[in-house]
Amino acid sequence: MSTTLPVQNQTAISALLNGLAGGGVEVHDLTAPLSPTTPALRLPAPFPNLIDLELENIAQFDERGPMWAHNNIHVGEHYGTHVDAPSHWISGRDGHDVSQLPVERLIGEGVVLDVSEQVAADPDFLLEKEHVQAWEAEHGALPKGGWLLLRTGWDQYGHDEAQFLNTDENGTSHTPGVSAACAKWLAEETPIAGFGVETVGIDAGRGFEFDPPFPVHYHLLGNDKYGVTSLKNLALLPTRGSLIVVLPLPLVGGTASPARVIALVTRA
Ligand code: MN
Repeated sequence: MSTTLPVQNQTAISALLNGLAGGGVEVHDLTAPLSPTTPALRLPAPFPNLIDLELENIAQFDERGPMWAHNNIHVGEHYGTHVDAPSHWISGRDGHDVSQLPVERLIGEGVVLDVSEQVAADPDFLLEKEHVQAWEAEHGALPKGGWLLLRTGWDQYGHDEAQFLNTDENGTSHTPGVSAACAKWLAEETPIAGFGVETVGIDAGRGFEFDPPFPVHYHLLGNDKYGVTSLKNLALLPTRGSLIVVLPLPLVGGTASPARVIALVTRA
């Protein structure tokens, strides 16, 4: 028996449901697994760091819980694949916290800008406005309310924090990102809702040297746009036309939250 709905009754949602049921739509998980060894940002002294994930076992089918297992979660807000809310940065301090992000802005078209070749040659590669404009000339304008996803190939290092952070003997991290001018332009002149990366943070490893320091944080979060980090599997997405769903926990007062990020893609 067919599980699909009659074609004449299709709405936008039923078309999507038919695609999911019939195999025409694939779902990809863009989320890094959360474990105590998930790579995390390491701020230099004197700045305190957030804690890594710990699952504190409270019961495990034993005298503490004969029929159940459960854990407490201990983790920093900015851990693994996570969403930065405007309130995370000084430029957005009066903006929304992570519980206040409108859900309609957490779902939208994903567009992939692939700079993995450039990053393979130079881990300090920076995205410039000209790169995005060249992409737009070929693929069309950045989508209103969409998510620009920067494919760098960096997810290949997600199993190993040392490789993922790529920190030199002077404490400088060499990971790709976005120039200050491009960050300002993306924040102020494009209609995207958010910006996603495969690296540990939305700024380049050397972002502290820029003007302003950490310009993606400064400009995007200061302009009510969002960031999402530590994405994987961007290579499975088409250049545009995927449906991205970004789901941080609604932590009241939170500046960020680990998030599950999935992509719906039309099967080729
Ligand atoms: Mn963050």
